[in-house]
Amino acid sequence: MSHLTRERAQTKFWFERATASILGGVNSPSRSFKSVGGGTPIVMQKGNGSRFIDVDGQEYIDYLAAYGPSILGHAHPVVMDAIRKATQDGILYGTPCPAEVEFAETLRQAIPDLERLRFVNSGTEAVMTTIRVARAVTGRNKIVKFAGCYHGHSDAMLVAAGSGPSSIGVPDSAGVTANTAAEIITVPFNDLSSLEKALACHGMEVAAVLVEPIVGNFGIVAPESENYLQKVIDISHQHGALVIFDEVITGFRFHYGSAAQLYGVHADLYALGKIIGGGLPIGAYGGKLDIMNQVAPLGPAYQAGTMAGNPLSMKAGLACLSVLKTPGIYERMEDLAKRLTQGILELAHHYHETITINRVGGAFTIFFGSQPVRQYADAEATDGVKFAQFFHELIQRGIFIAPSKYEAWFVSAVHTETDIEETLQAVDESFHAMQN
Ligand code: PLP
Repeated sequence: MSHLTRERAQTKFWFERATASILGGVNSPSRSFKSVGGGTPIVMQKGNGSRFIDVDGQEYIDYLAAYGPSILGHAHPVVMDAIRKATQDGILYGTPCPAEVEFAETLRQAIPDLERLRFVNSGTEAVMTTIRVARAVTGRNKIVKFAGCYHGHSDAMLVAAGSGPSSIGVPDSAGVTANTAAEIITVPFNDLSSLEKALACHGMEVAAVLVEPIVGNFGIVAPESENYLQKVIDISHQHGALVIFDEVITGFRFHYGSAAQLYGVHADLYALGKIIGGGLPIGAYGGKLDIMNQVAPLGPAYQAGTMAGNPLSMKAGLACLSVLKTPGIYERMEDLAKRLTQGILELAHHYHETITINRVGGAFTIFFGSQPVRQYADAEATDGVKFAQFFHELIQRGIFIAPSKYEAWFVSAVHTETDIEETLQAVDESFHAMQN
């Protein structure tokens, strides 16, 4: 792989031009390089397979995967074909269409807990609606979430933990009211006693406990015991609260189905997104029949969407899931990720870099620190400056990862052994450069 000492003239040109019309030059703040000490976000031109190419013609091995959806890499022929064919029939009707029925059936078959479901346009919408439905069903207002977990940008989800564990939340964004924040209780992940305390204190007011079954948003963090999620469910139910699994990242990430299935547990409601759209905008939510029956037009909880269930997203999603049914596809992703992380650990050891890697299947996070990362405070305590250095060194060497110490590397179904070897070479050089 060619080494870069590039001007990135075209990236600079496009980004400067972007800032004149797109606020901050980016359409999602996580794309800026703010949390890695700054720099111009690289402007991408096109992608193919496991790689994409920027506007200056530089190629990168992509572990960002567009923050999760691109599990089949770029321009996968099956997905591209499906989209191309779909466009021939027009792209939006505003009426029911067969593709949404077929896709709903496909999702229900894969995740039988989705007794009824609805399509929306983003993970944000999916989570936001599950919260509304949980409130409608229980007649309660409060939601318990886990510190550091991102569930989209609806007002109720832009709430940070208050001063103590399991405390009432405070707004995490300007424009979120104190009243909204007061309805959100935040507890640490992997800590049942904090959840128990929060529910003992507020249980009668809690509509739902919302959890990512495998955390993806302060790095990849798995439940630390086999029965953690079942206990979360049991404790919540004891207090009359519903359980919502946010599977926007985890759905179809680790196997053909939900993370809940991996742990043999059943939530009341699920939010999905990312992978299920095959790269097009999508979200979905669903769950138990009696709960979903509370949604309009059958019930009193309102939710709607002009673009919801649009044929393009449905057909791209169907195509993507059809590929993900290929035997061995998840095992291969896991195998490559294992080799990559083992190699990175060996290199870190060689260069005396202290790192901790959390990996589940084909997804992992490298933390600069020696302590295990099992909840948000642990991730916060890791070295962001070192991460930023590592990030910039990798980018220089054509390895693209998310510009944040809290994000994951995603190995896709189309990464190759050569990709892994080239990545390890780049990591070797990056660690070497960081010594100086
Ligand atoms: N839930 C989780 C776990 C996420 O990671 C995200 C996005 O990163 C969302 C919800 C929001 O999804 P979207 O960006 O599609 O609105």
